[in-house]
Amino acid sequence: MAGSSQGDPVAAHGPVGVLALQGDFREHVSVLRGLGADVVTVRRPEEARSISGLVIPGGESSVMDKLSRSFGVAEALQERIAEGMPVYGTCAGLIMIADRILDGIRGQQSLGGLDVAVRRNAFGSQTDSFEADLDVPALGDPPMHAVFIRAPVVAELGPEATALASLADGTVVAVEQGNLLGTSFHPEMTGDHRFHQYFLDKVAARS
Ligand code: GLN
Repeated sequence: MAGSSQGDPVAAHGPVGVLALQGDFREHVSVLRGLGADVVTVRRPEEARSISGLVIPGGESSVMDKLSRSFGVAEALQERIAEGMPVYGTCAGLIMIADRILDGIRGQQSLGGLDVAVRRNAFGSQTDSFEADLDVPALGDPPMHAVFIRAPVVAELGPEATALASLADGTVVAVEQGNLLGTSFHPEMTGDHRFHQYFLDKVAARS
């Protein structure tokens, strides 16, 4: 993206952040460090302003939403997303970067950015968690073994967003829009870190 770093002069070379309000942020810190990244945890607005990219972990999106607003970090992150900072959201993190939430709790908001509607807990209480092998053409072979835990799905894909992976029935479970990346599942749990590397490649392309 020509000139994209001009909108982001302070943080283009900063560490990558992991939003650490709630959820399995420690696992993402460890995966990103394993890939050689300089990683910091993010809870405060000044931390949000110093990073070159952000991973939002799985957890409980309604809690993460409330905490992000009460810690005052939500607004700073929205500004960074608008500037084009790369963000990778997994599971609850995908819900946090979706423009529209279906089956959210009353008053639930998101940071937004990704032109999709996600449905929370889309597989219902019968299928709390399951695993599947997914073809992800953007990552090449082999298929990715994916773990879904009370997972959301991408119920509507806006014209700006692209599906990166779907279940056998066509349900979209991985999506990309410019520097935003979201998966319904948890690559931090399986040892296959190609999505984290894909995110780090987006960060590197901006610096
Ligand atoms: N069901 C959770 C939510 O709505 C997401 C679950 C997860 O992140 N594993 O936020």
